[in-house]
Amino acid sequence: MSAPAQADCLFCRIAAGALPAHKLFEDEHVLAFLDLHPIRPGHALVIPKAHHVWFEDLPEPLATRVTTCAQQIARAMKRLYGVERVSMFYTGIHVPHAHAHVVPMHHIHDVTSVAYLDAGPESFTPPPQPAPEALRASADALRTEMGAETGASGGR
Ligand SMILES: [Zn+2]
Repeated sequence: MSAPAQADCLFCRIAAGALPAHKLFEDEHVLAFLDLHPIRPGHALVIPKAHHVWFEDLPEPLATRVTTCAQQIARAMKRLYGVERVSMFYTGIHVPHAHAHVVPMHHIHDVTSVAYLDAGPESFTPPPQPAPEALRASADALRTEMGAETGASGGR
């Protein structure tokens, strides 16, 4: 059930070879290439070739292919750049075609949140821990919502 390529989608056009990219890896289902605005040198994107806007809508085998490709890139980044960790994340920003960022982490805040910056960019401040009741309420709400989805037995 792969979505048809969208003529006006930047990443569909890259996947189809209609636009150039600094490709790292390609097979039938996924493509990895360099981000043109890297957080760090080597910052890569891994996309499914099929057009899906949100990562949560990727069929499981395709989501797995993206992750496996990102793992391969991460191992190469560790060897090449000597970094201890590589991050992988989806943000859904900029291009409405699901893409996983893979970034070699030279600094703890290469990928960060204002919630971690309370003590300044050289430290790492965990956000305050909510009260147990608040955590319980969040977990209950999420579990209920997840149960609603599995209970609906995938009728998308
Ligand atoms: Zn697309």
